[in-house]
Amino acid sequence: MGDRDRRPARAERAQPGAVLIHAGLRARVNLANGSTLAGLGVAALGGARVGRGPDRLFVGTGYRLPVPPAPAFCLGNVIITRLDGLTPELLRHEARHATQYACCGGVLMVPLYLMAAAASWLLTGDTGAKNVFERRAGLADGGYTDKPLRPFVPRVALRKPAPGRSVTESR
Ligand SMILES: [Zn+2]
Repeated sequence: MGDRDRRPARAERAQPGAVLIHAGLRARVNLANGSTLAGLGVAALGGARVGRGPDRLFVGTGYRLPVPPAPAFCLGNVIITRLDGLTPELLRHEARHATQYACCGGVLMVPLYLMAAAASWLLTGDTGAKNVFERRAGLADGGYTDKPLRPFVPRVALRKPAPGRSVTESR
């Protein structure tokens, strides 16, 4: 993938489950739903230097607040990082999150994301591995790895639907 493949439509097409949206439409929707303004506010609070990124995104570097703990995060059309810049992989991962904000009604995505992260943690011990937002943004691009379910998960699932005698009883 060269630099010319960094437009969101192409980058997002490369990720199964990612929603495709035109960069201009995404920018207008996230401006209207207030999430981009919230992102610019958080970037300012964290002391980030905000500049224009590709595809009508903003990139804020040098963020200094302790939360969230991730090296980079997205709020509306604003990608914020503690680093001095973003790799192409991290940029396209966060750009997919920007699209998710446009599809989830803006900052409403924050509680939805936190619930998905909690569910993922319960299932795997990792907030990203089974988090639908991270999976659709691309686990590898975001620096996540897929994780197996915790050992209790299959046992709980198997215990539920068997009040009677099991057909597969074996000794
Ligand atoms: Zn992510």
